[in-house]
Amino acid sequence: MRMKDTRLIDAAEALDLLGCDGADFFALMARAGAVRQKHKGNRVVLCGILNAKSGRCSEDCSFCAQSAHHSTDAPIHPLVSAERMVERAREVQTMGAREFSIVTSGETIRGENEMREICEALTRLRDAGAPWRCVSLGNLSEDQIARLRDAGLNNLHHNLETARSFFPKVCSTHEYDRDVQTVRTAKSLGLKVCCGGIFGLGESPAQRVELAMTLRELEVDSIPLNFLNPIPGTPLQGRHDLTPIDCLKIIAVYRLLMPDRDIYVCGGREVNLRDMQSWIFMAGANGMMIGNYLTTSGRDHALDLRMIQDAGMEVMPRGDAP
Ligand code: SF4
Repeated sequence: MRMKDTRLIDAAEALDLLGCDGADFFALMARAGAVRQKHKGNRVVLCGILNAKSGRCSEDCSFCAQSAHHSTDAPIHPLVSAERMVERAREVQTMGAREFSIVTSGETIRGENEMREICEALTRLRDAGAPWRCVSLGNLSEDQIARLRDAGLNNLHHNLETARSFFPKVCSTHEYDRDVQTVRTAKSLGLKVCCGGIFGLGESPAQRVELAMTLRELEVDSIPLNFLNPIPGTPLQGRHDLTPIDCLKIIAVYRLLMPDRDIYVCGGREVNLRDMQSWIFMAGANGMMIGNYLTTSGRDHALDLRMIQDAGMEVMPRGDAP
């Protein structure tokens, strides 16, 4: 068999590949799948989340159902108890998830009570042997991240959402640099960082590459790729920019730009990829979210486990090192 092309690509080639079609698209899938196989084998890491505090966010992210600037049907509730966080970790574990993240709405967490509750959950998860203990709490100071780390955190999730050049069209209530700083601080404190974005907001192909180059420069450890599920009541309601092929090309180009990173397909998978969901592994993904998303339902996890098996992949066992 001919040697597969597993070269690292640059931004210009990435942009070119995002525009491919026909036979070139199938060649891209084969190439990205080979790179995924080389660096990650055929194992799929599953991640489950808890919407631990929902709604009433001060920020105005155009895609988000939880912004107080938009009128949506998203649930609104204060921070749940540490007990509920630990319970949800067990639930996603039974679905096959190795990773678990506590996610809160808001630009940051507020007050000592929230911090104490989250730290208690992290410590309980660590003591119970949960391998990956992740939070997504918005922007955090060095002191806050250090405290979470000392309580048991080993992975911080914080998306940049989109390219710097497009961010002002997505969010006007905080600066891109504040998000970048949170990522840099978490890395400097020795945490693994999960950081990606969402596509289909109106960004250009060049801006999709721009985000990838920023993530590569930041040396983030894992990259969650989300595809817009346009929620009624948000400014992006009714927007459907992406085809399943577009999504697969984005996954593939991110794999070729960051060959040895963990690439997860997260929100909007079912809505945007539809019958092509199982192609995400050929396109280069080695992880995906399982169970419900923050404000929308995921599909039955049994369907996802069957899909993984049918695609010739296997779920990463919970105890295995990353
Ligand atoms: S994405 Fe996060 S920061 Fe932006 S509105 Fe939603 S909850 Fe708030």
